[in-house]
Amino acid sequence: MRYFHSHFIIYGLLQFILLNANLYSQQEINFVEGIHADYDKCGYYFDEEKNFYNKSINNWGYNYDSLLADLEIWRLSPYVKIDSIGLSVQGRPLWRLTISEDPNSVEGKRTVHVHARTHPQETESFWVTREMINILLSEFTGPQTIRATCVYYIIPMFNPDGVELNLPRRNANNVDLESNWNTFPHQPEVAALKANFIELMSSPNPIEVMLNMHSASLCKRYFVYHDSVGTSPAFAYMQQDFITGIRSYYPTGIEPWNYYISWTSGTPLQYPESWLWITHGENVMALTYEDMYQCAGTGNFHITANALVRGVMDYMGIVTNIDEVNVVSPYEFALYQNYPNPFNPGTVISYQLPVNSNVTIKVYDILGNEVTSLLNEEKPAGIHQVSFNANSLSSGVYFYTIQAGNFFETKKMIFQK
Ligand SMILES: [Zn+2]
Repeated sequence: MRYFHSHFIIYGLLQFILLNANLYSQQEINFVEGIHADYDKCGYYFDEEKNFYNKSINNWGYNYDSLLADLEIWRLSPYVKIDSIGLSVQGRPLWRLTISEDPNSVEGKRTVHVHARTHPQETESFWVTREMINILLSEFTGPQTIRATCVYYIIPMFNPDGVELNLPRRNANNVDLESNWNTFPHQPEVAALKANFIELMSSPNPIEVMLNMHSASLCKRYFVYHDSVGTSPAFAYMQQDFITGIRSYYPTGIEPWNYYISWTSGTPLQYPESWLWITHGENVMALTYEDMYQCAGTGNFHITANALVRGVMDYMGIVTNIDEVNVVSPYEFALYQNYPNPFNPGTVISYQLPVNSNVTIKVYDILGNEVTSLLNEEKPAGIHQVSFNANSLSSGVYFYTIQAGNFFETKKMIFQK
């Protein structure tokens, strides 16, 4: 789903020159490792052209406001607590979900940590993360068991500034947050995540599994496996067990553990996994997961999420009702309840598209008269919002409708002066 219209490219070029003239003038860290010597961890090697084209995409279809809209939806669940671990360079909170049976009381719960979108363009692994959240919040017995036993800490957007500034792989200071855990002083995002790790690792129930969610141009779904040279023979076996277990739930989608082997010549220092390995060794299964990056086979995010959730629980020895965990609706069209509601006079309507669609959103009064058309245009796949201001209207019940492809839905909202 790329935009090759020439005006996008020209616009991207202007943005590139005006905003990011120094982005690639810095020395690129070319971390060559493992059997894929031409690629860095996420499959990029002086891959400026791909980054350049992606600049024409507006926040890759899911921006910071999209996250805020999702947070408002997730916040309605009794199983979620939302806080932030700190602020980005530009002062955006690094939002964190705490998911457990009682998210305000997680003593004794076994700990899993997930963070996504370190690299803003790698949205696929964010969609997987989002599906993991949906699974973990669902009322099936499997997730109930997980919530009764575990706490999941999930940071869905670790680099919100990069997302907002359309920086494919950097934060607002043009630093790659993935590969600068050994650079001092730390970027504020890195400092916040490290402090979060330190706090959790010193708690009575330290992190047992840490997933670092990325997407790579290799057009495969895989884990970045750490060779025993850079870790230990015991950890190598543990990783093989972990990855094989997850893969057993999606054998046609996820590659075997030996697909991508890293750390073959020692332990690198720059990654979050490195810090966890050096500090806590075999106590934490800390791995990067790479989803398909803009490939023909991209998708099936709910299947991947399902495999990750089930595999992680198997690895931790927690028995779940796997048949029921499997019953998860795929990523689909959706029209969400406006927020706030009732409202006065402004409110925001969110909707979700699984594919690029021509979207029409209209508002009607209680008699069925069209009040206004809020949107009528082509939108990319993802979550989007439109705002509605009822300033000139009288109080009362209104309806809003979405038409996107063959999808049509209506919801009610209340304007209360
Ligand atoms: Zn990445």
